[in-house]
Amino acid sequence: MTARYQIQENIAVITIENPPINSMGLATRRGIEAALKLAIADAGVRAIVITGANGVMTGGADIREFGKPVAMQSPTLHDLIRMFEASAKPVIAAINGVCMGGGMEISLGCHYRVAAGGVMIGLPEVKIGILPGAGGTQRLPRAAGVELALNMIVSGEPVKSEVLANTKFLDRLIEGDFMSGVLAFARQVIDDGAKLPRVRDIKIEMPNAAVFFTETRASVAASSKHFPAPLKCVDAVEAAVLRDIDDGLAYEFQLFSELVTTPESAALRHAFFAERAASKIADIADTTPTRPIETVAVIGAGTMGGGISMNFLNAGIAVTMLETKQEALERGVATIRKNYENTVRRGKLTQEKLDQRMALLNTTLNYDDISDADLVIEAVFEDIRVKEQVFTKLDSVMKPGAILASNTSTLDLNRIANFTRRPQDVVGLHFFSPANVMKLLEVVRGSETSKDVLATVMKLAKKIKKTAVVSGVCDGFIGNRMIEQYSRQAMFMLDEGASVEQIDGAIEAFGFAMGPFRMGDLAGNDIGWHIRQRRYIERPEMAYSRVGDRLCELGRFGQKTGAGWYDYKPGDRTAYPSSVVAAALNDYRRTIGIAPRSIGDEEICQRLVYALVNEGANILAEGIAQRASDIDVIYLTGYGFPLWRGGPMHYAETVGLDKVVQSINGFANNPYADPAFWSPASTLQAHAKSGKGFDAK
Ligand code: NAD
Repeated sequence: MTARYQIQENIAVITIENPPINSMGLATRRGIEAALKLAIADAGVRAIVITGANGVMTGGADIREFGKPVAMQSPTLHDLIRMFEASAKPVIAAINGVCMGGGMEISLGCHYRVAAGGVMIGLPEVKIGILPGAGGTQRLPRAAGVELALNMIVSGEPVKSEVLANTKFLDRLIEGDFMSGVLAFARQVIDDGAKLPRVRDIKIEMPNAAVFFTETRASVAASSKHFPAPLKCVDAVEAAVLRDIDDGLAYEFQLFSELVTTPESAALRHAFFAERAASKIADIADTTPTRPIETVAVIGAGTMGGGISMNFLNAGIAVTMLETKQEALERGVATIRKNYENTVRRGKLTQEKLDQRMALLNTTLNYDDISDADLVIEAVFEDIRVKEQVFTKLDSVMKPGAILASNTSTLDLNRIANFTRRPQDVVGLHFFSPANVMKLLEVVRGSETSKDVLATVMKLAKKIKKTAVVSGVCDGFIGNRMIEQYSRQAMFMLDEGASVEQIDGAIEAFGFAMGPFRMGDLAGNDIGWHIRQRRYIERPEMAYSRVGDRLCELGRFGQKTGAGWYDYKPGDRTAYPSSVVAAALNDYRRTIGIAPRSIGDEEICQRLVYALVNEGANILAEGIAQRASDIDVIYLTGYGFPLWRGGPMHYAETVGLDKVVQSINGFANNPYADPAFWSPASTLQAHAKSGKGFDAK
């Protein structure tokens, strides 16, 4: 059942019931229509109330239906709204809980709207690259005023019912018992017997419309580069002012139909579903019991330990940081405090909250003080001997059932787990720097990590507002393993003739937040240098450009040393092209005997992005990632891949996997290429042949 039908005295109550969020797919729309017909046909019914079950009004349309014929199958949301508007009996939307998108639109089709206090109401369609397509852009400006409506539609941000209480959107904000209040309102409407108001009949007076829309367009255009939907939202709202309602509705539908087929909307919808999918682990049921996490210990109060601790303090969870020296603890605490103080200064945190958070933070030099923690996260030096020391100690002191996590970025988690006698309790929690800011959390599943440990950390990730993605054990896990191929390729292109600025410029124009060299300068080029030193020994067959090493030998580690791939001025993060680097590059090219050629921006972008895609496909083939969409989530949330392109794997699908394979084979023919680099992954070849996407079942 998707809509419950009940009679209360002479009032019909239709309750949308489609857990978890009462979304309005075809079956639900049919349920509402059937209930509505019963109410209209029943002579004893004098008013009709529509509300939602389980504390939610409705999350809106079912986005899985978008672009499919079922979305257009009768009754559509438009059909339901027509029925409401045509009803001779008053129809009242009783907004009991969250009311989004299509839910807000059908409410606008009702004669009256009442809501509980504190309820979030909004039109979030723009966030998936479309606009409200069931009259929202035409009716909300009539009901709530043009400015508020426009802000809500263009930003997609919901507002509290109180904000709408001062507008014609809401007829009453209900206090006390919600359903009693709704029924009292319905009885009053019946008693009044007034002519039934319709939002479509409200006239908008806006003498300054021309100026208002010109200004709005300019500011929306500036903030929505690469996304077509926000400007179309402005067009639609303008139509609400300039055109009659039916004309405006037709125009809205036309814009909606155009947007729904854009690659940007496809990418945004992909990202939305990918993030939801990432929280699920195929062989772990939702019902898997989890362990309670009330106290956390963090080993190491350095860059990562401090940032990691802040996540838990922010969520109200007590943290004890452990270090080897008192000074290190004091430095760590001071950094955390300074971070919070900066947030207070920017007006984003109250002093009271700062005090509360700092009060949850304890420090110690003694392992006995943390033995009772439910979770301990190790963030000490990236050295297997140090990790061994720490995990051996943790094994001997931590209470049974405590989860032992490592934040290692490159070391073998299985080896770390085997330093303990409880490898089932060991898991990788790979935070990204700055750990208090970055959303991404790679959850590293060791070969013996138990299911309840994984279920617990996935749940905990939500609590600390991280986007968790599961990775198997391999060098670099998913994200860094792929980025290594990307930066290897970037340096090969330097060898062949591209400049640092050209490569960064090309990939930034493609949409990356930062090119590989600006990123290297920010993170520290010595990190990659150390990794390469290890690779030269462990993987002597793997080809690397040595140009990055030359730079590091000159002490050019990046921003922290005032020079890297670019030059920097004191106190200024602007990257200035460097003649020293250009000369070093020329010199290196001569040493390796390459006559530089000019490389086009398109080739640069393809080689960088396909390096990611091919390694991603290898990772899929090895089962290190559960699904291609998980890889996209990692790249969208942790590596600045352009959101409107949906992540590397989705992007490759939009290009066509067969075309990607073709290009890769072409790059392999480059006389300077490492042939092993451009050997297409088995999964990439198989999917290119089948013509289906990576995650197609
Ligand atoms: P850091 O050098 O800033 O901090 C390490 C801290 O650990 C220091 O304060 C040190 O005093 C302390 N420490 C060392 N040995 C210890 C021991 N035996 N017991 C207790 N404390 C000890 O390093 P970091 O950048 O915070 O990195 C920590 C871990 O996080 C590493 O495994 C690293 O690979 C990983 N990581 C780092 C980043 C990053 O961008 N920095 C990102 C992801 C993961």
